[in-house]
Amino acid sequence: MNGEKSIARLGQLVAALPQADRERLERIFLVNTSVGRLEPTAAMLEWIERQFGSVDAVREQKVVRVTNLVTMEGSLFNPLRSRRPMAIGKREELSAIIEGERGGPFCRPLERTPEDTFGRIEGRHSVTASNVAKFDGFSGVVVFNEHDPLAFTEETIADYVDTGVAWLRKAHEQDREAKYPFLLWNCLWRAGASIVHGHAQMILGKEMHYARVEGLRRAALAYEQEWGSNYFEDLFEVHQSLGLALEREGTRILVYLTPVKDREVLLFSPTLDDGLKGSIYRVLDCYVREMGLSSFNVAICMPAFGLTGEDWSGFPVLVRIVDRGDPMNRTVDVAAMELYASSVLFSDPFEVMETLRESVGAE
Ligand SMILES: [Zn+2]
Repeated sequence: MNGEKSIARLGQLVAALPQADRERLERIFLVNTSVGRLEPTAAMLEWIERQFGSVDAVREQKVVRVTNLVTMEGSLFNPLRSRRPMAIGKREELSAIIEGERGGPFCRPLERTPEDTFGRIEGRHSVTASNVAKFDGFSGVVVFNEHDPLAFTEETIADYVDTGVAWLRKAHEQDREAKYPFLLWNCLWRAGASIVHGHAQMILGKEMHYARVEGLRRAALAYEQEWGSNYFEDLFEVHQSLGLALEREGTRILVYLTPVKDREVLLFSPTLDDGLKGSIYRVLDCYVREMGLSSFNVAICMPAFGLTGEDWSGFPVLVRIVDRGDPMNRTVDVAAMELYASSVLFSDPFEVMETLRESVGAE
């Protein structure tokens, strides 16, 4: 364990960086720390000890606030919360629910899911369906052959991605004006999935990319115009200077300093190649097998297909993976803070990186 590095000490870690690294970081991130104080009642002491390990740690709490000045994403880290023992839900209970859903429509997709007007794409481990209630004009589903969404392998993950991309290409052939691709996987209900059986989804938009992706493209372009360097390159360098990034088979992987929710990992690569697909698998495998997580979102943001009026140069294939917490927890993880102010985080990115580095394996 590296006791030196923790989110609580982010301010000091930044201050200790070589000047060039610090300046690069400060172009992208604003870091500030505040201390919250309280006086517990006598009746609370025992519970506080049990819940947080120490009364002093609760009496005076450090909150680290990070703002991405380029994208205006914001995070509030309370290391006290991150020190709470990680609640790994009752795995048997979850497995029983997953098993109990066998026999649903996605177990027999050829009979019980609609197909697109251009038919289905068949992968080795999956098949596409047309989304019944569509996100957009082109809205499809990759139905995994495997019912249990957590029983993935490197081969099946690559197949799901390939099948989704083949569907997007096929949809683009049907209508050349539809050229903004987005691929997503909501794993289990806590991450927004209405059906337990493993499935990913694709959408292909017209006129402009989906708002969050277009917003990021514009922000990155403005950054490049202001500083003369690529935003994604710099984002990687900044995380690397703090020990929050690694590189594997041409894919850059970082534990993001302004995550949308806990344990968010960003991966990027110039193209959606085998290195990137293998890295997606490794991150998810680490999530499920090392960290004991079971509900997560995966988003694959891709530049537009073909020519558009916008500048997509320097925009990589960007994959975002985020933990959505324990499916057995009734309290939702996204609330007014996340929707309207800033993300509130329980996990420490440095701890996430430590686990990730061990299981992903850097070059
Ligand atoms: Zn099923």
